[in-house]
Amino acid sequence: MIDQLFSKSKRPFLISGPCSAETEIQVLETCSRLKNTGKVDMFRAGIWKPRTRPGSFEGVGEIGLNWLVEARKANNIPICVEVAKASHIESCLKLGVDVLWVGARTTANPFSVQEIADALKGVNIPVMVKNPTNPDLELWIGAIERLREAGLSQIAAIHRGFSFSGEKTFRNRPQWSIAIDLKTRMPEMPMINDPSHICGRRDLLFSVAQKAMDLNFDGLMIEAHVTPEQAWSDAAQQVTPEIYAELVGNLVLRTEVPERLESISVLEKMRKNLDLIDDEMMNLLSSRMTISREIGKYKKMNNITILQSNRWRKTLERYVSKASNHQLSEDFIARFIKAIHDESIEQQNKVLNSQT
Ligand code: PEP
Ligand code: MN
Repeated sequence: MIDQLFSKSKRPFLISGPCSAETEIQVLETCSRLKNTGKVDMFRAGIWKPRTRPGSFEGVGEIGLNWLVEARKANNIPICVEVAKASHIESCLKLGVDVLWVGARTTANPFSVQEIADALKGVNIPVMVKNPTNPDLELWIGAIERLREAGLSQIAAIHRGFSFSGEKTFRNRPQWSIAIDLKTRMPEMPMINDPSHICGRRDLLFSVAQKAMDLNFDGLMIEAHVTPEQAWSDAAQQVTPEIYAELVGNLVLRTEVPERLESISVLEKMRKNLDLIDDEMMNLLSSRMTISREIGKYKKMNNITILQSNRWRKTLERYVSKASNHQLSEDFIARFIKAIHDESIEQQNKVLNSQT
């Protein structure tokens, strides 16, 4: 069953279960209700919970592993658990847990990842690596490499979003481009999406899961609980097994490679148009930077600073206010103009500080 994840022969590979194992009954009941839906390939539960702040529920510990093993036996389903240090691995290996995962807070710490890798040397067990809490692709890749160097051959990545402060729709910002970059760099590695920890609330789960499917992710990990509102951790994002199954059942699955020849040629034509526009954009950007450098020369001659805050603020406002007229999001236009402005500053900085 787990091989289906690594051979990518079942898409999406579905992982579900509660955020935390709380009691024996809760684990067994969640697992059997999930199994009854026919829509789960692996059962998950956290035993050791790394919480951001002390004082909240930190997991039931090793005893919970026995409940998971019981759930596996009763339902004939593989089980996976989060591990953060060597002693966790020892307990999991003793009880024959099928798959391990490294949590986001652990991936962010190379000391911990190395401890895990060392404890897994010579052991053949699949491991899933969540993205680090901070949006750092190299750190994510580094964790995967440490495990590979320990000899592990079955490694999957889990995209669970990145922590941030400020106004929040998502609990963890998805920053899809980081997951896409990892998929591009390691195309053979399965990529699982975790809508629960991205959203932090159940009403957004479906749209994130659907987006992951449309980005051709290989699997989903979604938290489910028999009484979600009363969960001891992550209550706002958990759903009942039945709602989980409905959500998964409503996903539209599309294929990456079009089956009909006709679609290939239609797509090709439209993509040619995109390429033409991209080339045009490149030419425009290049002309814009040529003018920027000219302005840089003038500023240098007349001892004027690169940045005039007022002019920049007005430029930004002007573009952002026009965004919706062009069916573009304000957020995108702000990021786009800021990126162009940054490059302009860099180019002028070079001109101002050159010797000629
Ligand atoms: C979890 O899966 O319950 C968990 C703790 O996730 P993360 O490491 O993504 O925060
Ligand atoms: Mn959780």
